[in-house]
Amino acid sequence: MEQPLITIVVPCFNEEEVLTDTMNKLENFLDTLARAKEVSPNSRILFVDDGSQDKTWELIYRKSIRSQYIRGLKLAGNVGHQNALLAGLFSAKTSSDCLVTIDADLQDDIEAIREFVSLYKQGCEVVYGVRAKRSSDTFFKRTTAEGFYKVMRRMGVNLVYNHADFRLMSRRAVEELEKYGEVNMFLRGIVPLIGLKSAKVYYDRKERLAGDTKYPIKKMLAFALDGITSFSVTPIRFVLLIGIVSFLVSMMFGSYFLFLKLFGQTETGWTSLITSIWLIGGLQLIALGLVGEYIGKIYNETKRRPKFIIDIDMINLGRKHEWEE
Ligand code: UDP
Ligand code: MG
Repeated sequence: MEQPLITIVVPCFNEEEVLTDTMNKLENFLDTLARAKEVSPNSRILFVDDGSQDKTWELIYRKSIRSQYIRGLKLAGNVGHQNALLAGLFSAKTSSDCLVTIDADLQDDIEAIREFVSLYKQGCEVVYGVRAKRSSDTFFKRTTAEGFYKVMRRMGVNLVYNHADFRLMSRRAVEELEKYGEVNMFLRGIVPLIGLKSAKVYYDRKERLAGDTKYPIKKMLAFALDGITSFSVTPIRFVLLIGIVSFLVSMMFGSYFLFLKLFGQTETGWTSLITSIWLIGGLQLIALGLVGEYIGKIYNETKRRPKFIIDIDMINLGRKHEWEE
């Protein structure tokens, strides 16, 4: 395993602004590694087009014709970051020794891949890229991300702190990952569950090369809620606890008011009545919402929908004619 064949998987959703730059940088980088005989010359970079509406696929396609290293995988529709990653990993796994995932905006330091590979050669099946500093992220992104990791930890989900989806996985690790049948794959939570030998590599996270984040607040919240409810039933237990406590409290108040009434001091009762109505109503709604969240999860899982649909596959050459032009 002196020169492992590595595949760098890059999910892209409307990334035309950064893509040319990213493709050139990754290509040069991989070329350097291959020439230094650190990786196999058959290594490649797989750009997964996650149903982009701009020129993303055109750029990938054009470049792939001229480049020794660049390949494309076009998904039939937008399935989201996590599923796009899975599409790339699963398509390339049989023809790779190890696979690296990285975002198209190159906020993560590609130089760290060198270290990923050397740790892989030393027997690590998973290598996590960890952001040492997040100085270039906005204050908002930093604090929300921090809060997210904290909440997840509290809920008992084992996440690698400050690690996003920049990691190396051996073919074995990806094969194990494929056994996790759930439709909602939250990779950061699942990969540590596989439990193979792993290591961490620290690097500085940079600013997006160009273009805007594809994770606006709405998506970020959905992602966080998804992460929490996919891995933990703590929220639902917490609600149950609040329910029990508030029930006990209202019983106490109830008997107190009954006591007052029986011994002559009549209350108008409006305040207590209206507060308890609101309190209980609110609690019930929270509880219902949470239950609904879990039922929604169950619903999604039972549908067993495919995680992604591949349109054009340049790795396994599913549609050769299109690739040859
Ligand atoms: N992405 C994707 N599908 C989506 C949204 C995002 O493949 O529906 C990709 C995107 O092109 C990028 C990566 O996922 O390569 C991370 O997105 P982004 O950089 O916008 O997220 P942030 O770094 O701001 O959290
Ligand atoms: Mg980014």
